[in-house]
Amino acid sequence: MPELPEVETVRRGLEIAMAGKRLIKVEQRRPDLRRPFPPDFALRLTGRRVESLARRAKYLTLHLDDSSVLLIHLGMSGRMLIGPIDTQAPGTHDHVRFEIEGGTRVVFNDARRFGLMDLFPLAALAAHPLLRDLGPEPLDDDFTAKELGVRIAGRSSAIKVVLLDQTVVAGIGNIYASEALFRAAIAPERPAETLTKKELARLVPAIKAVLQEAIAAGGSTLRDHRRPDGELGYFQHAFAVYDREGEPCPGCTCREGIRRLVQGGRATFYCAKKQR
Ligand SMILES: [Zn+2]
Repeated sequence: MPELPEVETVRRGLEIAMAGKRLIKVEQRRPDLRRPFPPDFALRLTGRRVESLARRAKYLTLHLDDSSVLLIHLGMSGRMLIGPIDTQAPGTHDHVRFEIEGGTRVVFNDARRFGLMDLFPLAALAAHPLLRDLGPEPLDDDFTAKELGVRIAGRSSAIKVVLLDQTVVAGIGNIYASEALFRAAIAPERPAETLTKKELARLVPAIKAVLQEAIAAGGSTLRDHRRPDGELGYFQHAFAVYDREGEPCPGCTCREGIRRLVQGGRATFYCAKKQR
């Protein structure tokens, strides 16, 4: 599943292809993805100019020149492919094709169809049901140790599980929750409410750092999604602990190496010595 760094990589790729340009032609090739497309989807998009592209958690928002917003979620397997406008027939899983002013084609391909698109007025953005309850963006300056402390106060669930709660902080997925806790040397099973100010002051910068490093690497390549420039695969990104059970822990002298445990149905990777 694409995580925040992958979505940000896609946003940056789409920005190069689409910002300031008109959508000359929009082909919607099926009535629904995870849910139905909005009425007259292709018709309403055709001729619109993309003014800017933003990201909120794992949602992309394309801001259009008629003060509407195209919201895109990649779901489990969604990807954006960029190439020239040619005569090639769409593939089976190419569900939306955008022809962009200047000769570029952007294709939304999604084999499993857990992705979604919506189109609505800008005024409805903040109150959109998928966005309104999201916590702060982890990379924003207002996501601080103090802010996280307020949001986890009274939460007795494990910190790893609480970090995946999108109302606490938006867009942190399973991989980066494990990585950040390892870097901050905090045990994933710790009840969230027991984290000290000092630990929060390690955790928040660790979250930002693991996300920023992955964005810099162009996202990870755990599944088959392509870089938005049309090339196969993201850059390989090395994780310190994720999916490395039994391997030696980086920068640690423990004998056991990296351990795995399941929390809330999701695998957590950690070091029992370093993380307390
Ligand atoms: Zn270790």
